[in-house]
Amino acid sequence: MTGEKIIQECRDLLDLLPAQILALAREKHPDVGGFGVFPVYAPVEIIHAAGLLPVGMFGAGDKIELSHADARFQSFICSIAKSTLELFLRDEMKEFEGVVFSSICDVARNLSSLVKRNCPELYVEYLHMPQNMYSAESANYARSEFERFRTNLSKQLNRPIPDEAIRDSLKLYNEVRHHTRRLYAHRKAHPSSIAAADLYAVVQASTRMMPEDFVPMLRELCDAVEASDVKPRDGVRVVVEGAFCEQPPIGLVEVIEASGCLVQDDDMIIGWRLFDDDVVSNGDPLAALSNAYLASSVYTSVRHDYKKPRTDGLIDRMKRSGAEAVLFAPAKFCEPALLDYVLFRQKLEEADVPHLKIEFEEKMWTFESTRTEIETFAESMLFD
Ligand code: SF4
Repeated sequence: MTGEKIIQECRDLLDLLPAQILALAREKHPDVGGFGVFPVYAPVEIIHAAGLLPVGMFGAGDKIELSHADARFQSFICSIAKSTLELFLRDEMKEFEGVVFSSICDVARNLSSLVKRNCPELYVEYLHMPQNMYSAESANYARSEFERFRTNLSKQLNRPIPDEAIRDSLKLYNEVRHHTRRLYAHRKAHPSSIAAADLYAVVQASTRMMPEDFVPMLRELCDAVEASDVKPRDGVRVVVEGAFCEQPPIGLVEVIEASGCLVQDDDMIIGWRLFDDDVVSNGDPLAALSNAYLASSVYTSVRHDYKKPRTDGLIDRMKRSGAEAVLFAPAKFCEPALLDYVLFRQKLEEADVPHLKIEFEEKMWTFESTRTEIETFAESMLFD
């Protein structure tokens, strides 16, 4: 398959709702069940080892109208929470075995309770992720949360989820993360080698396919991208920051590059590529995952690390990627992103780094004013 064909397949997956994603996976794996994973992070290896397809729950974009969820939330809330609830209220998730949320913000916590109350038959898990990365008990604590998840899921399915199966899943997801890192690294060195929107579609596809099917495609795509001969183009090299949970419409990502920017790095779908190295896959797999979460995770606005401030993380991401500016792309009403924006902005101003904020929401379908803002920003830097 050519690189273009692989990217097109990934883009086609973006149009599907969770039930359609599961139906597609069942064409190859007739017995597979589905399990929803709300961002940012969950140990998908446990889910996959249970014989399920972990599906990233990134809302429903513009694919459904909200007719039930609006009544259950206040109006000033991020779109991912509303459209995710709508999926459950419309029975879109009825083929799924369950869904997992984690302690990223009050909205996600309330959403998990709403789903539980409105879908009493469904298994809803809520993971309390560690808030202190350095306590002597943090590793035991994180491991015990993952063990609790394994036990509950195993009871729900009425079958064991052995360590050996989790180790096998770890190896597969290590490969997914490894090749994804390869693509990101190549794009840093050769900014035009893969469009930001294409890379975004590829990473999103990793949350919608069985890893055993996705890895060969991803490997082939990496080889094709690395072998391609691309003419460099001019543009302002930027890092996109703030889209770690709700995901921007792909049209917005296209507009960023069409308006004169070259995306060098970003935090989109970061939870599925959280680790900066392979997770150890030959020992206790739950201990390996908890250690990786504590010691090898990249920074995000929902992971609290008092020794490594996120503001330093952003500066570091910029330096390492060769970016000269930051585009903040928080979802509307996303509290963690908007609170961090204040800190990030202060740090960037101290460091004299240009930045621009462009908020988005799922149902955004026209990008003209955003395009003008980014063009003006890019031109002010290019022709300064
Ligand atoms: S988009 Fe922001 S506020 Fe909404 S659930 Fe995600 S982290 Fe929470």
